[in-house]
Amino acid sequence: MSTTSPHPARTVLITGTSSGIGLAAAVAAARAGWRTVATLRNPDRADALRAAAAEAGVELDIRRLDVVDEESVAAAVDGVIADYGRLDAVVNNAGAGHLGTLELETVADVREVMEVNFFGVLNVSKAALPHLRATGGRLITVTSVGGVVGQPFNEAYCAAKFAVEGYMESLAPVARSLGVSVSVVEPGAVATEFVNNIGLDTDARVAAAGPYADALRAYIDRTVAQFTPDAAQTPAEAAASVLEALTAEEPAFRIQTSPWARGFTAAKLADQDGSAVLAMTDTWVR
Ligand code: NAP
Repeated sequence: MSTTSPHPARTVLITGTSSGIGLAAAVAAARAGWRTVATLRNPDRADALRAAAAEAGVELDIRRLDVVDEESVAAAVDGVIADYGRLDAVVNNAGAGHLGTLELETVADVREVMEVNFFGVLNVSKAALPHLRATGGRLITVTSVGGVVGQPFNEAYCAAKFAVEGYMESLAPVARSLGVSVSVVEPGAVATEFVNNIGLDTDARVAAAGPYADALRAYIDRTVAQFTPDAAQTPAEAAASVLEALTAEEPAFRIQTSPWARGFTAAKLADQDGSAVLAMTDTWVR
């Protein structure tokens, strides 16, 4: 599956590239000259990725990586090092939405959401970090505006994205002391498979929501309106912020993908790009 290049190229590994932001980021990175290892948990779902790469006239190295399967993470990262000898950046993009609320979900449901969106990010980051240290590389994670602002019926998803943001904000000064830059990219609504992948049957969910039915219906109606093509970003637009994290000389710690996402997170954040906190915590490790 791997390709070889006559020139040493900066190499980026991206997770969750079967659709959406990951697919668009893989194509954009390859177009920008990165040797791009586009990973998917199920390589049988690579058709859209292959078609997008062909349309853009770029080459991708497509490999299997399931973020919750540590063996597949190790195999993918070790394979990249064996084939290319270097890893310059990782984009933790894989993630999954979840709709629920405490009384309507089990703790096991919440653990599953954490497994993909939080521990999956840790699995990949831990495997990659020694190699990123070797190249002075970049560790980039697609979180969400839901990693900053808690949203109704998204308790588990937002908790997982908050956890990633807290983990990465804490890791950033430590990694930076060894030359690795850490960023999080925060999209608002992006028209991807994200909502479809939740597998939501609205009427059935509302019917089963008991005392939460009216609130759930109101929330879903609002959310559906946010994901119309007019209101949502395209995957390519959101991927542009991933490219910014990948290529900017000094990327911000926190990058919102749209003016809407900036406005929304501004309701919560005094330190919107993360520079004030990092200016402080950086001094704790120097
Ligand atoms: P998407 O089209 O559903 O893409 C999600 C990707 O993650 C898919 O490729 C999916 O693969 C993959 N994935 C899920 N579980 C995985 C696992 N265990 N191992 C490896 N890959 C896995 O949605 P998207 O919007 O592009 O989502 C990308 C990221 O953006 C996610 O982290 C999401 O939380 C975040 N985000 C999205 C939005 C939005 O509105 N779309 C907003 C804020 C943040 P399969 O095809 O195999 O399922």
